[in-house]
Amino acid sequence: MTIVQGISCSTCGAPMHLSPGEIISTCRYCGYTQVVQTGKAFTFEHSMLLNGFTTEGKGRDGASLPGIEKTVAQWMSTGFTKPSDLARSSNLRERKLVYLPFWVIDVNVETSYKGVFERLQPPVVKNGQIKKHYDWLILARRASEFPVREYDVPLEGKIPFDFRKIEDYAEVLNSELERDDAMEKAEEEITALHEFHAKQDVDKILEIKTAFHHSEAVYLHSPIWFITYEYKGKTYKVTVDGAKGTVITGDLPPVKLGLL
Ligand SMILES: [Zn+2]
Repeated sequence: MTIVQGISCSTCGAPMHLSPGEIISTCRYCGYTQVVQTGKAFTFEHSMLLNGFTTEGKGRDGASLPGIEKTVAQWMSTGFTKPSDLARSSNLRERKLVYLPFWVIDVNVETSYKGVFERLQPPVVKNGQIKKHYDWLILARRASEFPVREYDVPLEGKIPFDFRKIEDYAEVLNSELERDDAMEKAEEEITALHEFHAKQDVDKILEIKTAFHHSEAVYLHSPIWFITYEYKGKTYKVTVDGAKGTVITGDLPPVKLGLL
């Protein structure tokens, strides 16, 4: 493990607060994004999504954004798997806005497979193909509880990264994953997914081959709200997409059934 110390921004000279393992770092003062090891500029596309919510009167450039509290309250009061008094009896505790770093791998994938279909007698050999385009999301942090596969990233709102659009109270996390590692990880995950799909189609796979074409990787910072609420003495977590205001995952108290 390398301990990074005394690093400053190559452009404005401000100190950079780096944690061990961070590979790409963005200056909070001038927005300069550099490769930690070399100090050189990050030259690939760096994008962001805008946060559309605020908390307790904190706005961006005086903008009157809707409160994230309202979004959570709305989520709490809809759906029948939740206690009916959830919105009324809960207290919001932590409300933290974090710009999480992702690699978005834009790729065309083609899988060809050959397998035995055994559900009918006699078994038959079957060929199949899966052709897909993905904007596959890889979280650029090694340890995180963030549910990447639940997150439908609203890429249509993607703009070039602009540090002036980041709220003072928000946290911006740096990447711990190199571009090539992210691409490799995406390929592994997609290969596994396509194998899973192929196994729905045939009972036994004889041959399978997955090819990747025209992969591109974009580095993306995406606003995510990490919220905790308290309900009847217990604490639960909710993550909200700060661009769209949709709840990505939310822990719920158990609902008592049978009390009719
Ligand atoms: Zn700087």
